[in-house]
Amino acid sequence: MGSLLHSAGSWPRPRSRAAVGRGGAARSRRPRERGNADGELERALLTERARFARHLDIELRVACRSEAASRHELGIVARALCRGHAYRRLGFVRLSDYARERLGVSARTLHAAAWVATRLDALPIVAAAFDRAELSWAQVRTVCAVARPEDQVQWLARARASTVEELERIARAVRPNAAGAADPDHDDGTIDGEPALRLRIACPARVRALWRRALELASRGAGEPLVAWRAAEIIAAEAFSGRPAGVSLVDRAVLACMRLARRARRCDSATDARRTVTDPAARALAMGGSSAHCPASETVAPELGPVATAQVAAATGQAAAASEPERADTALQRATSDPFALDARLVAAMRVIRTSEPRIGRLLRVVVDQHLYRAHGFASLADYVRERLGISIRKAWALLKVERSTHRADDFARAYDEGAISWVSALTLLPVVDRANAAAWIARADAVTVRRLADEVSWVLEARDVCGADARLDPPPLDSVLVSPVAQAIATSAASVQIRAHAPSQTLLTKFDTDRRAALEVCDVEMQFTAPVSVVALFREALDAYAEPGAPRWLALARVLQHVIAYWEATPRHRDPIFARDGWRCTVPGCSSRRNLHDHHLRYRSRGGGNAPTNRSAVCAAHHLHGIHTGVVRASGTAPRDIHWQLGVRSDGPPLLSYVGDRRCPDARWKNALGQEKETG
Ligand SMILES: [Zn+2]
Ligand SMILES: [Zn+2]
Repeated sequence: MGSLLHSAGSWPRPRSRAAVGRGGAARSRRPRERGNADGELERALLTERARFARHLDIELRVACRSEAASRHELGIVARALCRGHAYRRLGFVRLSDYARERLGVSARTLHAAAWVATRLDALPIVAAAFDRAELSWAQVRTVCAVARPEDQVQWLARARASTVEELERIARAVRPNAAGAADPDHDDGTIDGEPALRLRIACPARVRALWRRALELASRGAGEPLVAWRAAEIIAAEAFSGRPAGVSLVDRAVLACMRLARRARRCDSATDARRTVTDPAARALAMGGSSAHCPASETVAPELGPVATAQVAAATGQAAAASEPERADTALQRATSDPFALDARLVAAMRVIRTSEPRIGRLLRVVVDQHLYRAHGFASLADYVRERLGISIRKAWALLKVERSTHRADDFARAYDEGAISWVSALTLLPVVDRANAAAWIARADAVTVRRLADEVSWVLEARDVCGADARLDPPPLDSVLVSPVAQAIATSAASVQIRAHAPSQTLLTKFDTDRRAALEVCDVEMQFTAPVSVVALFREALDAYAEPGAPRWLALARVLQHVIAYWEATPRHRDPIFARDGWRCTVPGCSSRRNLHDHHLRYRSRGGGNAPTNRSAVCAAHHLHGIHTGVVRASGTAPRDIHWQLGVRSDGPPLLSYVGDRRCPDARWKNALGQEKETG
């Protein structure tokens, strides 16, 4: 393949384009009549080009096929891991955290693969066709969304006879009547049941810094990581509640709040329902409040922890197997319900995907650059990708995007090609990586959790927006405390100006309050998000409310952001020095929880652990009660920087993962950490 790509760089591009048949089938071919040496040369080039296109096509299809097979395996195992929340035994409380930190993909990827695996179980004839490589991933996904066991043969015939586009069209028409859960990876251009719309506002970099800060504060307030549009909705609602004097917006504000409240209720009841079904204990424990301390049982729990939990996990596996009588092979079920075995299989499947994806990206780039899809009779890359390769065009663009950025730095290209950095890490690093800093960022990605890596990247970007475009994008020192540059600027200005509690936006942020100079400022960056159409409308109304006649649009944005940031920074939370120090979120490595925080004593009070801040750490309720105090997660050492973490503790082997703070721990250091912990008790 290497040679193929080398020749691609200097490939001659004939003026007229070859049109050979799609998949070998004939399509009209119109060679130019020249009848001289020039024409002969062109024909030769055309043939050569067609041959090249064919080779590339075969390689691409093989790579996509092997990727699809691994994705199927990923789905089968991911489904088993989700059953009874088996990933909790590995030390993670959310599937998304496990997927990101351990596999380097989004939970959506795992859910989508698990969905296909589940559907294929119900459609054995379709599954067999997929195993024989007769159906691409795109075809299988489409058929899985609509076929039932009784009509799977017809759907299979339809898939074979029609293009993927036609198949999708037929499926869309049938879909409302189809049984079963919808494909979680289905992209129909809507968000939250509404048409999706993108809002873009060109602005000076410092306003984008405000935007980043507002997103972080919105997430903090919501108690969980928010996608940009959800944060935008909260920002708009907050902006209305503190509208500038003289503008009557009460109705809108009330409507916005009601909408948010309704959604929150919907989410809560959904979560509660899930808890009731799967884990009655969790619900009772969740009632414990946000400042619960270690339960009384903490002296006994750790000793019998891993064993007891393993038994629970095994029992859960058995229960799941028993509840499905059609599954005869319960022994196999038990063998495939061990979370550690499942984890190993997932990691292996991901390894294949992680090396085949860069390959697909590289080959695709040649196809795009040379317009080789035309050689197969396709008018666009999207058609080629869908019909020939059976991957989604969204995925193809994402692969191409990362592939293009690997040209910025050899270190980045090498790490990505070899699968040394995960898909999620690569995407996280894209905005900051350049020739000078690539090696440092790759090393950092290897050293810390993806959670920490994302924090560092956001911090560097925010700092750049505040300090100017010439600021370097190097990683911050390892383990450094990341203080938001915007928050710092506010603190500085707050110290010099007397603040009135209820009109913070007038006095705070003087550094940013440059209305007069606004007209002269350069809008060199862009703030953007994609949201349901109603949220975009709400956000625009908020901007309108803050707009001054004749002033640029971004100035209204700056005012909205200044208002909400000042308000949120000034709002007194319940004072808790430990939670504040730990950034109001769970300190267990990789955990994204920001809600239901507990104050955990690293050395238990029953064993003489004191109340000093160095012995206390903020952890989420789920990690505290189901992780630490059941022995699945171990924490020792000194807060906040030197906590030794072990995730997925087991009696018959090393823990699955070890960290010091957010730093990954190599195996040798893991043993040290364990030894130390035993000495100190
Ligand atoms: Zn505790
Ligand atoms: Zn947690």
